Amino acid sequence: MIKVNQDYLKLPGSYLFSDIAAKVRAFQEANPEKEVLRLGIGDVTLPLCPTVIKAMHSAVDEMGVQETFRGYAPDLGYSFLRETIVDRVYKPIHAEIYADEIFISDGAKSDSGNIQEIFSADARIAVCDPVYPVYVDTNVMSGRTGEYDPATGLWSRVIYMPCTKENGFQPEFPAETPDVIYLCFPNNPTGAAISRDALAGWVEYAIQNKAVIIYDAAYEAYISEPDVPHSIFEIPGARNCAIEIRSFSKNAGFTGTRLGYTVIPKDIKDEDGNMLHSLWARRHGTKFNGAPYIIQRAGEAVFSEEGQRETGEQIAYYMNNAKVILEGLRSAGYSVSGGVNAPYIWMETPDGMSSWDFFDLLLHEAGVVGTPGCGFGPSGEGYFRLTAFGSYENTVQAVERIKAL
Ligand SMILES: *Cc1c(COP(=O)(O)O)cnc(C)c1O
Repeated sequence: MIKVNQDYLKLPGSYLFSDIAAKVRAFQEANPEKEVLRLGIGDVTLPLCPTVIKAMHSAVDEMGVQETFRGYAPDLGYSFLRETIVDRVYKPIHAEIYADEIFISDGAKSDSGNIQEIFSADARIAVCDPVYPVYVDTNVMSGRTGEYDPATGLWSRVIYMPCTKENGFQPEFPAETPDVIYLCFPNNPTGAAISRDALAGWVEYAIQNKAVIIYDAAYEAYISEPDVPHSIFEIPGARNCAIEIRSFSKNAGFTGTRLGYTVIPKDIKDEDGNMLHSLWARRHGTKFNGAPYIIQRAGEAVFSEEGQRETGEQIAYYMNNAKVILEGLRSAGYSVSGGVNAPYIWMETPDGMSSWDFFDLLLHEAGVVGTPGCGFGPSGEGYFRLTAFGSYENTVQAVERIKAL
């Protein structure tokens, strides 16, 4: 008998981005002469920078020579990369993080989706609403989320922290006490950043409530303001309660080459003294056979002086697009936020339109594609996400078209 995992069947309906693709396809078939501009892209578009490519080439050559060939990478990652991360990411911000607390992986999507495995089946999770869908869906797959209410779009055992215009898109301490708190800053989808003081408040809250914070810092490189923390480990006490997830995807364009890492300090323990670090090490050892040597060398090159300069230029290019969108829409009277410490601009739909109605209007009247905010959670209804990952020319043109609506 085929017995499928019933928890997977609880996942509601179709996937946001396939719905969008279907609508765009239908529009293009009906209007072949119209050029559609995409401001919904959640993927980088600039090529990998020269320093990264050079490192990759030489690692490829090493793999073809007997003396320097390498088989399986160590489960936790090569020490050259883990040491580099300590030196270049954590030491400059005076964060006490050790190389053996860093787990190299194939990216932040896998890590942020898999990390829930080390928590008990009855652990209560708290998420921001709107949210990066991976956090909730992976907990649904593990049977941790209770029942889905199609009327509200909420799961009965998930603790939601609405992030709306009213609270400046900042999560507030929830009424119920969670065991695991997912935070993503700078945020996808809202583009909001968290201040150092606010994050310190969350660390204190987690310690008081014996909760663990899973901090997704995938957009750390886009931070431009000084009071925005680059890592949760800038905050005293975070070693006792926080796991940080990082990615080379948005920072350095590795979406197609895959590289990320998760930091689990050895100080996070349950009541019996079990380290989360040990559980994740066990999980990695059992289910993961390491990120490719070639890609880990490429990742190391990102931290070189040239690598930092070249990736910095790419981020500046995207953030200039963000500025074009933000200022263009603001001057046209739209209520917009984000776009300063993140490549995402979060706009309120005009005249209280629903997210999907605005999507249709924008597609049909302006030929511009964005992402309906409701796809990220019920509190995203009435909002719309635009991204800065397109070309400068297309971004300028798309903004002109929206202004002309
Ligand atoms: C893009 C994104 C990731 C995925 O990163 P990968 O390393 O490419 O898997 C993780 N978290 C958030 C919030 C993202 O937007």
